[in-house]
Amino acid sequence: MVKILVDNHKCTGCGTCVDNCPVGIYEIKEGKSVPVNSEDCLVCRACEAQCPESAIQVIE
Ligand code: SF4
Ligand code: SF4
Repeated sequence: MVKILVDNHKCTGCGTCVDNCPVGIYEIKEGKSVPVNSEDCLVCRACEAQCPESAIQVIE
């Protein structure tokens, strides 16, 4: 099972992960990114690579 961790101290709510995840894992809630359906994650790691704050960790 894939676990997605977003460091709320680093996340600025920029929305890059929302725009780049091919399967719509993320939503912005109260200014922070939240992985709402991480069971659909493809482990493509686009979110990790593109987050400007390096706030995301995808753990298999
Ligand atoms: S790309 Fe990074 S900083 Fe931007 S909303 Fe997503 S987790 Fe937060
Ligand atoms: S690894 Fe890929 S599929 Fe999984 S949350 Fe990140 S961008 Fe979405």
